[in-house]
Amino acid sequence: MSRHLRTEPIHDDDAAIARALASISVSALTAAAVHITGDPSFVRGPIRPREFVLNEFNGMLAEDEKAELRVRALDTIRAWRDAGCPPVAPLSTALVREVMDWIACEPVPDDYAALYLEEMDLAGRNPRALPVRATACDREELSVLVIGCGEAGLLAGIRLKEAGIPFEIIEKSGDVGGTWLDNTYPGARVDVATHYYSYSFEANDGFSEYYARQPELYRYFRRVFDEHGIAEHVRWHSEVERAAWDETASRWQVTIRGPQGLRETRSARVLISAVGLLSRPLIPDLPGLDGFEGPVFHTAEWDHSVDLRGKRVALIGAGASGFQVGPAIVDEVERLVVFQRTPQWMAPNPRYHAPVTPGERWAMRHLPGFARWYRFMLMWQSSDKLLELVRADETWPDFPRTANAASAARREVFSRWIEQHVGDDPVLKGQVTPDYPPMAKRMLQDNGSWLRCLRRPHVELVTDGITGIGPSSVTTAEGRFDVDVIVLATGFRASELLWPMEIVGRDSVPLSKVWDGKPAAYRGISVPGFPNFFMMAGPGTGIAHAGSVILTTECQMRYIGDAIRTLVDGDHRAIEPTQEAYDRYQQELQAEIATLMWGHPSIEHSWYKAADGKVYVLCPWRLVDYWTMTGRVVPDDHHVS
Ligand code: NAP
Repeated sequence: MSRHLRTEPIHDDDAAIARALASISVSALTAAAVHITGDPSFVRGPIRPREFVLNEFNGMLAEDEKAELRVRALDTIRAWRDAGCPPVAPLSTALVREVMDWIACEPVPDDYAALYLEEMDLAGRNPRALPVRATACDREELSVLVIGCGEAGLLAGIRLKEAGIPFEIIEKSGDVGGTWLDNTYPGARVDVATHYYSYSFEANDGFSEYYARQPELYRYFRRVFDEHGIAEHVRWHSEVERAAWDETASRWQVTIRGPQGLRETRSARVLISAVGLLSRPLIPDLPGLDGFEGPVFHTAEWDHSVDLRGKRVALIGAGASGFQVGPAIVDEVERLVVFQRTPQWMAPNPRYHAPVTPGERWAMRHLPGFARWYRFMLMWQSSDKLLELVRADETWPDFPRTANAASAARREVFSRWIEQHVGDDPVLKGQVTPDYPPMAKRMLQDNGSWLRCLRRPHVELVTDGITGIGPSSVTTAEGRFDVDVIVLATGFRASELLWPMEIVGRDSVPLSKVWDGKPAAYRGISVPGFPNFFMMAGPGTGIAHAGSVILTTECQMRYIGDAIRTLVDGDHRAIEPTQEAYDRYQQELQAEIATLMWGHPSIEHSWYKAADGKVYVLCPWRLVDYWTMTGRVVPDDHHVS
């Protein structure tokens, strides 16, 4: 049975099961009862979830209604246990749709239902396996080189291996995990719900927290890597410096710098970049930074040899990383000076630092379908409805402080959260309240830890610009702050995609020249003039409204698989998008981005924007649309040769 559907038999007694059920989502529990019995009456009775609300998993049911559903589910589970937990039969699609609508409290539209049916894969068909199986003859012709062994590169490896396609992954570090290998800073954790931020085809019942910390995420990717036997395909401590298309051979010639600095060239028919958007740290150009005498390090390159106990620490940057570092180190340091250029909106989320309840862990491990339906709820909660919050309505009276009516309502909710924590300190409240619409920059999940940290007596929040760094101080217009250590939580070079690699296409044209600071790709994946070159997490694919980047990389790999199938089926040597299709896609994408707040001139600083102030890295489409447009290669949009 597919890993994502596997459950362990139940040996617990009735009291233990009842205890477990007391702390779990009754919506997912009821769906599991339908799976065990195949009985639709669970979702056809008088008790129906009332409302589907963010971060709520019980359909806003009353206590007595939840209790009744639990009692019925307990009877079902007990009978199933007593029968020896026999395999459950797959449900009909019609019944799955009925359960979906029951949980969502509304009819889930056909396009979303199709996406979720594929994502949940309740029948274990592995629908995102590449649509190609390499024969011995193909294997001689085909070879794929993947750059990077983070989440996307590992995914590529798993899919290529399944399809029998020869491949090699080149990884600059010495281990798998990418972001979750590099970002070991204190407090690092994912801020997308872990049970969604995980591969669709893998079990995810082991996580101990709803928003897992870095070590656990690293272990997750390492386990998947080991279980799929990818190690023999990876060259560690090796960095791709250059890849050039050889028209005569129809292959990429790839220059790799190995562990001792030795260079060698490899040849591959297909080249996949899986280097990620947020992998190269942005070191700010602050006057005097080089002359600072104490330790200075970026969050993605945390220096664990530095003992922060009793130190005066400057934390420069209050984005997603700084926001996690501050509360994690505040108890150790003697003084913490936070330099914040722009405040961030925070979404209150009681699960943000919470452990997965023992009951929920038990249910994910033992109840058929439970983990899948919990994932469905996460996907539906963080669905495309949130995209409308950043839709710019220039006729809105409060524009651009808020983007539209829904944005203003959300601002109210988030402002109340700030008020609740720092309402009695008007100066701090003013400093931490953004003047731009929620979600126009990356939203943070919050349980109050950041604002509590800023209130501590030995913490100071500085909001005017840094004018210089001295040998042991940071200076702003407000004054000089003496510090022993500087932590740069200043983010990544997000718009400099693929940097510092050089990708050289047909006629020796470098991709950096084609892009000229404006990275773009057909469906975020491919570029004319660069045959058989595909990007995962490429330009125009960053998810800023909601959702998990892993869903998008799975979409991209499915698409790349179809491109490889096109090569194999047609006995072609190269495939690339037409210039016309590429241009059309960019026009459509940029026109759509222009309707959203991310690139609005009122947003002064954001990693979403490139040097020219425009947004090239984000995906403005609904996730369901991106999933649809990456389903199959459109023959008319491509040249093959
Ligand atoms: P970020 O969100 O871009 O934050 C960088 C911070 O540094 C911002 O506060 C920025 O201020 C500040 N900054 C940059 N250059 C500066 C300068 N020259 N002077 C003063 N301040 C400067 O970067 P990040 O925190 O590393 O996060 C980047 C992205 O990585 C996130 O949005 C998220 O997608 C991902 N991430 C996720 C997690 C997670 O899942 N938990 C954790 C970390 C990162 P401005 O706001 O004014 O630009």
